[in-house]
Amino acid sequence: MLSGPDDILRYDYDGLVAEFGRRFGKGEYHAGALFRSLYRHGEPDPGKLPEFAANPSLAEAVRGAFGYRLPEQSGRAGDGVTYKFLLKLRGGLESESVVIPMRQYKSLCVSSQVGCKMGCTFCETAKMGYLRSLDASEIVAQVMYARHALKEPIENIVFMGMGEPMDNLDNVLQAVRILSDQRGLNIAQSAITISTVGHVDGIRRLARAVSEPPADDSHGSGFTRLRLAVSLNAPNDAIRSRMMPINRQWPLAELKKALLDFPLARKGDFLFMEYVLIAGVNDAREHALEVAEYLRDLKACVNLIPYNPGLDATLGRPEKEGVAAFYHWLMEAGQYCRIRGTKGKDAMAACGQLGNRELKRKPKALA
Ligand code: SF4
Repeated sequence: MLSGPDDILRYDYDGLVAEFGRRFGKGEYHAGALFRSLYRHGEPDPGKLPEFAANPSLAEAVRGAFGYRLPEQSGRAGDGVTYKFLLKLRGGLESESVVIPMRQYKSLCVSSQVGCKMGCTFCETAKMGYLRSLDASEIVAQVMYARHALKEPIENIVFMGMGEPMDNLDNVLQAVRILSDQRGLNIAQSAITISTVGHVDGIRRLARAVSEPPADDSHGSGFTRLRLAVSLNAPNDAIRSRMMPINRQWPLAELKKALLDFPLARKGDFLFMEYVLIAGVNDAREHALEVAEYLRDLKACVNLIPYNPGLDATLGRPEKEGVAAFYHWLMEAGQYCRIRGTKGKDAMAACGQLGNRELKRKPKALA
């Protein structure tokens, strides 16, 4: 995203109204019209809006003050159904997003960082290291591009692309505020999932945000309906610490305390526990029983994800039968779970496969 300090995508509705007041002495009538036009129709030109018709010099001033253009796509790969697209960011970096077809709509997996510092052993992004966090406008731009440039009916957002969202939570929440505003893109918060590797401080911060009631005049729901997913991936601390270094900082017992405190908005809501099944590492029957025991007093749904090999994967993808067996062991032990498809794996667009190691190799030239 070629964004500058005045990139309009960084402003939520109230922020844009405030900017209009500060810069032009105008208010919601003009700012609201531009917000609706931009997000609902992808039309950023105030000169085309009736609210600005009587004041062309204001339209000109607004046009000059706020830079907006959709970012350029720098790559695309897919299997015809699921595909990832790469957008140019300032400094020569790229974001990666994945369009995933669901039954009635499409889901977009967005990145919150370029690279990641969490170092999970099964993840291609980890091999890039951490380059930088995306700002809110760069996160929103991924959705705008999918909706308005690719014309995809995106109704569901998962923060499961590159990066750990809790490591960039302010920008993630600002992006959620913008994406879910009913006067704009109007993506229901119950259709937005924030996924974490188990960053306990972040989970507790998000819990506080989710607990706050929405303001009376809010055109969203505060953050009360946001969904949380946790990458569990292992049945015990010994295995988890080998796969996911964050477990040494926040072991399973601490993670569980934070999850027990996390407020679920409605009766039927779940915490989503992602479990990447790796052959010979975490896919035995005793592992399934340990997972079920760990989750016993949590309201959780386990999503089983067969491991998607990266470029030089040394880990093994489980056979279909192994995945089915793990599913049955969990269900028999009373733990609800689902098997997630691995759409896009041949195009490196599936879970755990995002990232471009080339960017890691030349960070100085790109900074
Ligand atoms: S799995 Fe997620 S948190 Fe772990 S390294 Fe990959 S992007 Fe980062």
